[in-house]
Amino acid sequence: MALTSGLGGQLSIDLGALARNWRALDKVSAGALTGAVVKADAYGTGITMASKALHAAGARFFFTATVDEGMAVRAAVPDAHIFILNGLYPGAANLYVRQNLMPVLSSMAMLEEWLAKCLERNEAYPSALHFDTGMNRLGFRLNEASVVRDRLQALGYAPQMIMSHLACADQPNHEKNRTQLALFGSVMTQFPGVPASLANSAGLMTGRDYHFQMVRPGIALYGGRAVTGRKNPMAPVVTLHVPILQVKEARTGESVGYGASHSLSRDSRLAVISHGYADGYLRSLSASNTRPGGKVVIRGKVCPVIGKVSMDQITVDITELGLDIPSPGEGAEVLGNILDVDDQGDAGGTIGYEILTSLKGRYSRNYIGDGNLPA
Ligand SMILES: *Cc1c(COP(=O)(O)O)cnc(C)c1O
Repeated sequence: MALTSGLGGQLSIDLGALARNWRALDKVSAGALTGAVVKADAYGTGITMASKALHAAGARFFFTATVDEGMAVRAAVPDAHIFILNGLYPGAANLYVRQNLMPVLSSMAMLEEWLAKCLERNEAYPSALHFDTGMNRLGFRLNEASVVRDRLQALGYAPQMIMSHLACADQPNHEKNRTQLALFGSVMTQFPGVPASLANSAGLMTGRDYHFQMVRPGIALYGGRAVTGRKNPMAPVVTLHVPILQVKEARTGESVGYGASHSLSRDSRLAVISHGYADGYLRSLSASNTRPGGKVVIRGKVCPVIGKVSMDQITVDITELGLDIPSPGEGAEVLGNILDVDDQGDAGGTIGYEILTSLKGRYSRNYIGDGNLPA
């Protein structure tokens, strides 16, 4: 594949696959509403295009981390219901009201600030409540549930939704899942009739018990692996091709890259590729003689990175290609059907989420298809 853009690489985002993934998850969680988590620029895929495609696929409930992200969704999808997972930023209530964004309230301070805005305007602006069932990240502590309930009852204010978040959903047999499920159930009894939401992608795949009225998939929409140790059923969404700059031969014993951390154990053919940590190819994908690193696909074959990943380049061993020698300008596949975000995540000692959200701007982006699928 030849690459044309002056930036070199090309990131392709398959909006049709994104839409198909949403619909597949919506089928699995048939009894619940299926939201779409589009935080962090829709996991690196582009929040505007992704939100539009997800809306076309049928999504109406969107979750972002920040207000800025919520505003981006609002601009892309005027009729979206948008929850801001980070909650209410102090002093920002007017912005939420103006943009029709719902904070996911997670502390008494947030709750009181939101209620004060409601009282000031004499309007029950919608919000959700987040209860911490064991993660010690955001959320009211469980012993605050009755205080929150009493406070809301006194004002006649009903939240749109109560939610919690699973710490270990990627391991379906982890006992913490059942513990959190039970604790969430105890919160629900204090808010009868209020829609509830517990499941991220992995929770959604774990079983109906976790679905309640709304599920909140993120990573699975973007083709990433939600559950460990299982075949990933989702369609890949992201493909990344970056150009080969130079092909060269090097001799046994020569070293490659910064720190001379990798020395060649045979005469080798190398390809230097325009892709480095400044492009989101994490430095932890570096290889040395004692530890393998990331890989890329050239001419259909998986080729290992050798030496350190530098800012703008990686060096790849293409000796195994024999005389099938690629030309400068030709593309190397970093993400695609052969190597996906989780393969790169595993190789770099991280997770597909980080690979996706590290995608940067030094390649052109192109979008394939949209969310409008034949039914
Ligand atoms: C990020 C996030 C999700 C989505 O999680 P995935 O594992 O990407 O499906 C759901 N809920 C909350 C609170 C989150 O922070």
